[in-house]
Amino acid sequence: MKFELVKLPYAADALEPVIGKQTIEFHHGKHLQTYVNNLNKLIQDTKFENADLETIVRESDGALFNNAGQVLNHNLYFTQFAPNSNGKPSGKLAAAIDATYGTFENFQKEFEAAGVGLFGSGWLWLAADKDGKLSITKESNAGNPVTKGLKPLLGFDVWEHAYYLDYQNRRADHLKELWKIVDWKAVEARY
Ligand code: MN
Repeated sequence: MKFELVKLPYAADALEPVIGKQTIEFHHGKHLQTYVNNLNKLIQDTKFENADLETIVRESDGALFNNAGQVLNHNLYFTQFAPNSNGKPSGKLAAAIDATYGTFENFQKEFEAAGVGLFGSGWLWLAADKDGKLSITKESNAGNPVTKGLKPLLGFDVWEHAYYLDYQNRRADHLKELWKIVDWKAVEARY
């Protein structure tokens, strides 16, 4: 087994009420574990057997891309939260957000609107190019900005499995609540 299930940096119930314990247990323990298992099977006896995850995502397609993309996406997703963090970005990321979106509050509004406007299953990312220029990218299914040469900084999962148990169909409410648990120190470390 080359790839392993990423360890959560918090207890399964630690993000409540924003993300419930049962959602974490299914999302991390079942959905992500399945992507990891599929990825390990699909790379066997291929040129990707010893490749790193980002290389696989950039260079593969089909089922391999879908499973590798979802492993990369969820590894970023689950390690960007902290209980009751209620924080805001600081330092050069905060400055770049202000320069690009006017204010942090306006960035949040644009990010949420992009998530509500994403049709079907997918991901919403704050990404940076090689010069540090920020953009919000919407990706369907397993997409990740690395395929566009961008670095993913913050990712919100808008597949229903991320919120249905806690919010049913209310995606907008879920996205609004997620800000309460973003660990900006982890996000800034990627910038
Ligand atoms: Mn997911």
